[in-house]
Amino acid sequence: MQVLDVLIIGSGFGGQCSAIRLKKAGIENFHILERRSFPGGTWCQNTYPGAAVDVQSPLYSFSFEPYPWSQMFAEQNELEQYTKDILSKYDLNSKTTLNANVNAVHWDEAEKHWVVQTNDGSTYRAKFVINCSGPLSMPSIPDFKGRDTFAGTSFHTNDWQHDYDFKGKRVAIIGSGASAAQIIPAIVSDVAQLHVFQRTPHWVMPRHDRVFTPSQRKWLSKHWAYKALRASIYWGLETRVVGFKYSQRLLKLFAQDKAMRHLKKQIKDPELRQKLTPDYTIGCKRIILSSTLYPALSQAHTTLYDKNQGIAQITPTGITTMDGREVALDLIIYSTGYDATDGAVPYPIVGRDNASVQQFWSEFPRAYLGTTMPNLPNFFLMIGPNTGIGHTSAIFIMEAQSNYITECIAHILKNKLSTVEVKPEAEDKYTTMIHSEMKKTVWAKGGCHSWYQSKSGHVIAMFPGFSFSYRNLTRHVKWDDHIVS
Ligand SMILES: Cc1cc2nc3c(=O)[nH]c(=O)nc-3n(C[C@H](O)[C@H](O)[C@H](O)COP(=O)(O)OP(=O)(O)OC[C@H]3O[C@@H](n4cnc5c(N)ncnc54)[C@H](O)[C@@H]3O)c2cc1C
Repeated sequence: MQVLDVLIIGSGFGGQCSAIRLKKAGIENFHILERRSFPGGTWCQNTYPGAAVDVQSPLYSFSFEPYPWSQMFAEQNELEQYTKDILSKYDLNSKTTLNANVNAVHWDEAEKHWVVQTNDGSTYRAKFVINCSGPLSMPSIPDFKGRDTFAGTSFHTNDWQHDYDFKGKRVAIIGSGASAAQIIPAIVSDVAQLHVFQRTPHWVMPRHDRVFTPSQRKWLSKHWAYKALRASIYWGLETRVVGFKYSQRLLKLFAQDKAMRHLKKQIKDPELRQKLTPDYTIGCKRIILSSTLYPALSQAHTTLYDKNQGIAQITPTGITTMDGREVALDLIIYSTGYDATDGAVPYPIVGRDNASVQQFWSEFPRAYLGTTMPNLPNFFLMIGPNTGIGHTSAIFIMEAQSNYITECIAHILKNKLSTVEVKPEAEDKYTTMIHSEMKKTVWAKGGCHSWYQSKSGHVIAMFPGFSFSYRNLTRHVKWDDHIVS
């Protein structure tokens, strides 16, 4: 019976970060399971027109892997290439099994290891499991009445069908969040009609992109230059937390007023402007960065439907709206987001004494440092509850989280111990602190409903503070908070 030291579930940046850090710690006996037929996660899957990162690329990348980005906000194809370069440089492809969809994970107390099962009937065993299944990886489509009756083509943004030619077609896009905001300007000039169904408007700020010159790209390849640019971007973005948490007045002054000016400048029609004006504080939902969205929504062949004109029913020929319009369509694009709140892990996890994650999360998802849970020895969640960050790069958080995870694993393996597990009281204290801090933030009191919140009303996606505070918390393991055996 082969027992791995570590099994990583998911091969996106979270899985890559975990694997690279294990390698750097001298731990080579690990393996990665990936449910798709290709590795890489978000940027290899999301190939919709206009897909691009909304955090500056020198920061949205691994701190130890400088890259000669062609522009400040890289587009999907460049992010996919970066991902492929990382997988190949660190020889992660040979460590990955594809088409391995994990469907159950349980702890074997007698053997002190995890048993991991996949859809094809295979079983893997490992002392440690790091779940890197991704916070935005399971697309979700609301159960619209009549959805299955539509006779045209439809797909989710996460699963763009490139063999479908949308040119000259009557297209609806359902949803107006970050992906829709990228797709709308990318396709507007090619389609015959564009119908945008918006539940809630988002705050939009101009996107200050820039193309790097060949000589700037040369500098970007050098570690010290990359580090300096990252630092300047990082600290610029970090100041946003002051507004998100400590001063809604500053938030209004430096962000909301700017976003309002952007709206007024780009949208001249008062009725359309009204529909696009949010009624909550900026930052409560993810801020969209776009200089091309409003002009696309202003085009004569584009129609924006607000929540009063929402979808009553999908029919074989299109959409019937709540105010009785019949919209004839060839294509429906679902830009309706992901199962990101209460169901963040896509398979059952059963730990010691039948304790399950799903049970532990019955009220709302929670974990110590967003990573470990009582009665689940040697199990780690990458980008677990309250590790999301709206103002900076998710990769920064992954690297911080990897400090904690790798130190735990290395300590147990090097000292020939069996398990490390967070104490229930340490998890409880941490979670209480998180939700007490959360009360001060715009995500809790900004007056919106977003995917950052669980059904219980707790904000469970975001870390309520500076990202460097999270890094400080994860820099070294607090052994007093853990049971080691
Ligand atoms: C369209 C889009 C745009 C984004 N833009 C930004 C941005 O601008 N800035 C930012 O900071 N973040 C952004 N994000 C968030 C993004 O999810 C993170 O930045 C990061 O890519 C997450 O990496 P990950 O490895 O955790 O997840 P993913 O990249 O989603 O990787 C998870 C992997 O796990 C696999 N997996 C899932 N379940 C299983 C299973 N049961 N068995 C086996 N394998 C499984 C998946 O197939 C996937 O390959 C964006 C997300 C999306 C979807």
